[in-house]
Amino acid sequence: MLRILKFLITGDWHLHKWQCVATYNWREKNYGNYLNYEIQILECEHCGKRKKFKVKG
Ligand SMILES: [Zn+2]
Repeated sequence: MLRILKFLITGDWHLHKWQCVATYNWREKNYGNYLNYEIQILECEHCGKRKKFKVKG
């Protein structure tokens, strides 16, 4: 049942296994202050799906 729910929500059957494939620095202006972030590109080992993950530096 849980698996069926997951399938409906994600359209996928497996648990994504995220692996960091790249990182870069990102600077964002926020109320006059610069905030530094590290952006991590995560890729699923199984299906190749990618997502960006923002980490506060
Ligand atoms: Zn996947």
